Formats: sequence, C-alpha cells, structure tokens
Amino acid sequence: MTRAVVVSESAPASLREVDDSFLRGGGEPAPGEVTIDVSWSSLNYKDGMALGGDRGVARILPLIPGIDLVGTVAAGDAAGRFVAGQQVVLTGAGIGETRHGGFAERAIVDAASLVELPEALTPRRAAAIGTAGFTAMLSVLKLERDVEPDAGDILVTGAAGGVGSIAVALLARLGYRVVACTGRAELTDYLHGLGAASVIPRESLGEPGKPLQRALYAGAVDCVGSTTLANVLAQTRWGGTVTACGLAQGSDLPTTVLPFILRAVSLVGINSVEAPLSLRRTAWQRLSRDLDPALLDSVTEEASLAEAIDLGPEILGGRIRGRTVIDVRR
Ligand code: NDP
Repeated sequence: MTRAVVVSESAPASLREVDDSFLRGGGEPAPGEVTIDVSWSSLNYKDGMALGGDRGVARILPLIPGIDLVGTVAAGDAAGRFVAGQQVVLTGAGIGETRHGGFAERAIVDAASLVELPEALTPRRAAAIGTAGFTAMLSVLKLERDVEPDAGDILVTGAAGGVGSIAVALLARLGYRVVACTGRAELTDYLHGLGAASVIPRESLGEPGKPLQRALYAGAVDCVGSTTLANVLAQTRWGGTVTACGLAQGSDLPTTVLPFILRAVSLVGINSVEAPLSLRRTAWQRLSRDLDPALLDSVTEEASLAEAIDLGPEILGGRIRGRTVIDVRR
C-alpha cells in the first residue's frame, strides 16, 4: 500500500492508503509503464487548483495531485529504457491532472516523458526546479534564440512566484539585465538576491494602457497574461521576444496587432506539459548547468505530504514565495 494525497468528488483532499491498481488508474499493467518510488514532489499553481478539486486541472476524480515527481525506478518499462535503481524526474505529461501524480510515495507513470536525472542535480533540487523551473528554462531557451544579453533589459512578470523566481535567477546568471515586476514590494530584497537589477510594482503594468508605449525592454518572460501581457508587448523594443506561459492575472489578452507589425515583436507560447522528450532532456541539462544550486536552495521551502494539503489555498492566493518541495516520505 502507498500513502498518497487523494482528492475525490465527495471529500476534500486527504491522506489515504492506496494500492498499485489505484495508482495505475485501474486496468492491466501497460508495457510502457514505470513504477517509481517517489522521493520528492513540489507545489505548483496547478497543484493548488487540483487540491481544491478544480476540474480545470483535476480531470479525473479521485485524483492524486502533483504535477511533478522525482524518485527512483522500482520497476522499469518493458523496452528496458529504464531499469530499477535509476533516478528520474517527471514534470507535466498529464500527471496530477489526467492521471495520478507525485503527492504519493509511489507512482506508476508512462516512460515516454520520463527523464534521467542529470548527474549534477540532487533529487531535492530537481523537485525544487519542478514544472516551474522547467517552464522558466523553456522560456529562456526561446528568449535567448533572438535576444542577446547585451540587447537590453529583460522583464519578468509575476517575478516572486515559482516560474518568475527561477526565470530571474537563470537570466541574471546568463548575463541579462533583469527587471522584476512584483505585487509584493516586501520581496524586493529577495528579487535583488536572485539577480534582478531593478524591481517595478505590479500596478505599473496591471491597468489598460496604450497599444504602443515607450519601448523599454528587449524581451520578457510573462507569467501573468491579461492586461499585464498587453502592456509588456506595448513596451517591448523593435525585434524583441516575449514569452507567455501563465495567466495569474487572467487568460484574456486585450492587445492590438501594433506591437507585432510596427515593432516586429514576437510573442512565443510556452507549454511545459506536452514538451517532447528531446526538449525535456535539453532543458534539464541546461537547468543543471545554468542554475546556481545555492540560490535555488535559498528560494526553496519544504513541506510534508500532509502539510501540502494546506498549501493549496496559499499558492492560489499568491502567498507562496519561490518554490516549495514536498517530502513525500514525511
Ligand atoms: P505562482 O503562484 O508561484 O506565481 C504566480 C505569480 O504571479 C505570483 O507569485 C504573483 O507574483 C503573480 N500574480 C498573482 N496574481 C496576480 C495578479 N492578479 N496580477 C498580476 N500578477 C499576479 O505560480 P507559478 O510561478 O508556478 O506559475 C505562474 C503562472 O504560469 C501560473 O498562471 C501558472 O498556471 C502558469 N504555468 C504555466 C505553465 C505552462 O506550461 N504554460 C507551467 C507552469 C506554470 P508576484 O508576487 O511577484 O506579484
């Protein structure tokens, strides 16, 4: 039996004991499945939604939430790509949404999106990176294609959140001058500590503005969407690139074509969930190289499996700073 957080139709999230058949979602064992002794998971915005039973994320019920997991292979796949004892990491790919996820001591997952843990990363640090850090890296990979570090300032919105914090740290380490946008002025020192050169208030971008504004940024990583993203596009210089991964302010985008046709701005979408295996490997290798481990540790909090349940409303309320790892054995 496996200890797991389970959300069901009739009951709020709670700790339960489940068997392998439950972990598999019923049915027979599949040739591509890999059984993992999970050591760490992490808390993401989507996990907050799943913990609350939000059907936008919790596509099946009952569901074990947790869109990230790190652990050791207990039983490999039939093709032999994974063997017992290997350390692995899995983010997205439907876990914690359409199939059971990482808030459990054991998981049975599909080998297709599973990545070998890079040697330079400990399991705890890989979980601290998790979907948020992986998404930040996907954003950086797109940004650096078109924007050199000396091209000008890079804006990060939702900067004190999980994706934002790691994007700030990565970009600063790569030599970009980072401007962090946050609604939490009290986290200014925290953002400078991650490498932000300056910090601006959320209100400066949150209200509707003109379709073209003073061109301030060579690029941006946007975690917020809505009016904020429209203003970011309006403030991006000729030829700049803006990545869009999030919707913390809203899923709308009240903009015009003017930034695209008058300033040749590129808007690039980021989707971490369905990233192909080759991109996953590239991103994890880059994360193991480009992210300062001490800095990562400094933005990481830890919680037990039971404590994770109470953190759902906290991340949905924007009260979590940086990253929280879940010690599923505790
Ligand atoms: P967090 O909750 O950790 O961070 C979100 C941040 O957004 C907050 O910390 C806050 O930053 C800011 N924010 C919150 N509410 C508002 C608001 N009303 N207006 C403006 N800013 C706001 O979440 P994550 O970092 O994990 O995820 C960020 C976003 O990216 C989420 O929308 C998430 O769903 C999405 N996401 C998408 C992925 C993809 O594959 N496309 C993968 C991972 C996440 P601050 O306190 O600094 O103001």
